[in-house]
Amino acid sequence: MVRPINVAVLGATGSIGQQTLDVIDRNPGRLRLFGLTEGRRSARRDADYVIQGQAGEPEFDVRVTAMVTDPRCDVVVVAIPGARALVPTMAALEAGKEVALATKEVLVMAGALVMKAAGAGRAQGALPERIGVRPIDSEHSAIWQCLWGEERESVRRLIITASGGPFWAHPDLDLDQVTVEQALNHPRWSMGPKVTVDSATLMNKGLEVIEAHHLFGIPLDQITVVVHPQSAVHSLVEFVDGSLKAQLGRPDMRLPIAIALGYPDRLADAVPPTSLEDLGPLEFHPLDEARFPAVRLARSAALLGGGRPAVLNAANEEAVNAFLAGEIPFSGIIRAVERALEAFAGGGEGLEDVLEADRWARAYLKMNSGYVR
Ligand code: MG
Repeated sequence: MVRPINVAVLGATGSIGQQTLDVIDRNPGRLRLFGLTEGRRSARRDADYVIQGQAGEPEFDVRVTAMVTDPRCDVVVVAIPGARALVPTMAALEAGKEVALATKEVLVMAGALVMKAAGAGRAQGALPERIGVRPIDSEHSAIWQCLWGEERESVRRLIITASGGPFWAHPDLDLDQVTVEQALNHPRWSMGPKVTVDSATLMNKGLEVIEAHHLFGIPLDQITVVVHPQSAVHSLVEFVDGSLKAQLGRPDMRLPIAIALGYPDRLADAVPPTSLEDLGPLEFHPLDEARFPAVRLARSAALLGGGRPAVLNAANEEAVNAFLAGEIPFSGIIRAVERALEAFAGGGEGLEDVLEADRWARAYLKMNSGYVR
């Protein structure tokens, strides 16, 4: 009998972490909880590794490295929010583990390094179907599924759908006056506060364009964004013959999680079936880049390269926190990111360069926070 896949969950108390534990619970015999990390709240304790604390704390980092490099560990789910997830992700990949990545910031900051580590670890992977990085992001899971069995040369472009967030449908709303409560009220998805605010600014789509570029090796100018308020079509791939493939389903993150953990098999009943009759009309609209410049900003940061994507990511993270703390207006988030990118000198693409760019952007925003109020 084949033994269950041993899954380690980094960030078990967050939204994705909790849903990952649910997917594992519902698939006994297929999946087994091998280890977890938890922040302040306790997740649960029946695992080989239960690690409390925060990434960046020395003792926590040592224990996480021991867990993700343990020969019994097969798949590492990375669901720690933000830039702090980079170092443990690299440790898991360098140890030849499969990484199921929910923290897109890791690919935004250091996509080239991460994919290189995934490729280098591939030869020593424990699972025969090792691919390196499996997306836990609904759009990228959709694109991944559309690409199964296809040749890279057959792809003309990737089309990432965006719900538009809570403000897209209200063009007269003054984005300077938006409250935290309004920004956290996402019309379709239930997610953590950081990604919910990113969905409202559309920076989430900017980050997802960069994420897709690295995950699938598709040039940035072949990745487009379309607004699709119903969030039923999770994303599409257009092929050179003119064919479009889409993946549809409920807005339920347990499906991307189940696909990332079960690959190449599909886990039965990961989510309830989708009734096409209940979906209603599906709309697609162009993105208004003048009102929501985040995708343009992200694309240009990725094209210019160096430490700029790390600056984009760190400045955004700090600005979102400042907005959530009531320190800056909603529209100040993107203004802050733009200012940080303008002020940044460039930098290299090595791990130290990327971490330095990340630190620089955070320090810059703290020193210059008066600009964005
Ligand atoms: Mg997404």
